[in-house]
Amino acid sequence: MSDDRHRGASHEGHMDVQDYKQRLRDVEAQLSARIAHEREQAREQVADSPRDRADDSVTDEAESEDFTEAELDATVLQQVRDALERIEDGTFGRCVVDGEPIEPKRLEAVPWTPYCLKHQKLSEGPFRSRPSL
Ligand SMILES: [Zn+2]
Repeated sequence: MSDDRHRGASHEGHMDVQDYKQRLRDVEAQLSARIAHEREQAREQVADSPRDRADDSVTDEAESEDFTEAELDATVLQQVRDALERIEDGTFGRCVVDGEPIEPKRLEAVPWTPYCLKHQKLSEGPFRSRPSL
């Protein structure tokens, strides 16, 4: 009775958590590698730069672009890891804010999303990076 492990691609409505787990693990590995690579490149650029900057790491705008991309990846990576934890917890696929099921299409596109559509919009509005004053 316990052999429902058929890897059929098209049973809609049924969420195959193991599939998501695999995808999340793949993404995690890719992001980890990319972040390491980006940080490496950023470090090389800094090393190439004629300026000697030992301590002011966060303030320089010109060289922050590579870091920004790495940071973006790092943010996603964190979400991916959180999602993997939610799979273990059995809460995967539910919005972390209200516990509502996340829309299947959203989950399909962004398996690591912690929010349903409603809370996603609330959490990253179009002007998120700006102060609201
Ligand atoms: Zn929600």
